[in-house]
Amino acid sequence: MSAVNISLQPRRIDPSVDLEIRAIVEGRAGGETCSTDLASGPWNFDTVPGYGPGASMGDVIPTGSPRQGELPAEYRTASADELDARILAAKAALGDRVVVLGHFYQREEVVRHADYVGDSFQLANAALEHPDAEAIVFCGVHFMAETADLLSRPEQAVILPNLAAGCSMADMADIDQVEDAWEQLEDVYGDLSAPDADGLVPVIPVTYMNSSAAIKGFVGRHGGIVCTSSNARTVLEWAFARGRRVLFFPDQHLGRNTAKAMGVPLEQMPMWNPRKPLGGSTEEQLLDARVILWHGFCSVHRRFSVDQIAAARAEHPGVRVIVHPECPMEVVDAADESGSTDYIRKAIEAATEPTTFAIGTEVNLVQRLAAQHPQHEIFCLDPVVCPCSTMYRIHPGYLAWVLEALVDGEVLNRITVPGDVADPARVALERMLAAKPPAAPAAHWEQAS
Ligand code: SF4
Repeated sequence: MSAVNISLQPRRIDPSVDLEIRAIVEGRAGGETCSTDLASGPWNFDTVPGYGPGASMGDVIPTGSPRQGELPAEYRTASADELDARILAAKAALGDRVVVLGHFYQREEVVRHADYVGDSFQLANAALEHPDAEAIVFCGVHFMAETADLLSRPEQAVILPNLAAGCSMADMADIDQVEDAWEQLEDVYGDLSAPDADGLVPVIPVTYMNSSAAIKGFVGRHGGIVCTSSNARTVLEWAFARGRRVLFFPDQHLGRNTAKAMGVPLEQMPMWNPRKPLGGSTEEQLLDARVILWHGFCSVHRRFSVDQIAAARAEHPGVRVIVHPECPMEVVDAADESGSTDYIRKAIEAATEPTTFAIGTEVNLVQRLAAQHPQHEIFCLDPVVCPCSTMYRIHPGYLAWVLEALVDGEVLNRITVPGDVADPARVALERMLAAKPPAAPAAHWEQAS
């Protein structure tokens, strides 16, 4: 474990990551960014295939991913102050007819216009509190807008200001690959809907909220359930009460970290690589499996490393290291705590004494928390400023564009989940809402053959 060449300074106090990146690129500030293209407008990447600059820039984007058309020039060339004024004016004109939602990882320049700021599920629930709003403008990524559409009334339009704001992790579990995996598992386990003598089916599919509506629908059709990073353990316990094993997608790290904390041995968590027969495992491994982990990951959270934690501890004795469970297992193990974005936020809010925090999650949230809690030293574990590529695609220019169109009676960039997908996807979400932690820890994998 080496701390060499990693310098971590609690230097970020302005909540704007954009301003910091621009200062770095223009040489007005020290530090490093993963892409100097982040200082450009995101519209420069709307016509180019790929996730664009940021943490996912090396990931392969699936063919057929939604593309954003050209943003009108007036929004590309407007100053930040002009865009702020236009957004405020449009929101004032629309009043209660619109709700603007901003994800924790969204840039500060957009979040300041949000009526609600939270994680994806909190925001979908916030939309539910406004059944009379005609439009829900979701400043997040595509799967979040789909979830809001699933939970909102049919008359409400859910709008994603930039259609290129996908999610590289969600894209790693493609519905055709998942259907194919299910067929292969049927060859190994037999009828996947048939319970054994203990009343357990061979496998329960569990998908992370960060997945397409098509995947949530698949899970709903096959007796499975959705989870968030806050309730993953409760959901796995729900699944183990109904099945011998779990197929968990798309994030291998959340699946592994959660199951490991529950006592599932690593050797009973084979990976499913959709490009390999039987996912790259043997039939024996699959028969012995308790959790089959889909080969997906978040490129933001995969950047965090054990070396960064060692550097933080060396430079800041007593530092409290909290990371997101989408980080690799070694990083979660080396941290003091791991938890969802909401957990991280609440842990900082609950600290009564001035504390130094090193946080392993998306930099926009970390920098905002640092600005909100000046009594603490809060810094991102990753010394390179590298935001989520797809959250970055939402810029105030797109927000102004969709809001002004609404003022003129036009709905742009509406996200709609077809009914045949929406109905089973809602079933999977409802199972999650109904899942409760068991009175005593479930441990049937210890008894199961
Ligand atoms: S941070 Fe990771 S999981 Fe979240 S939207 Fe970005 S790529 Fe997807």
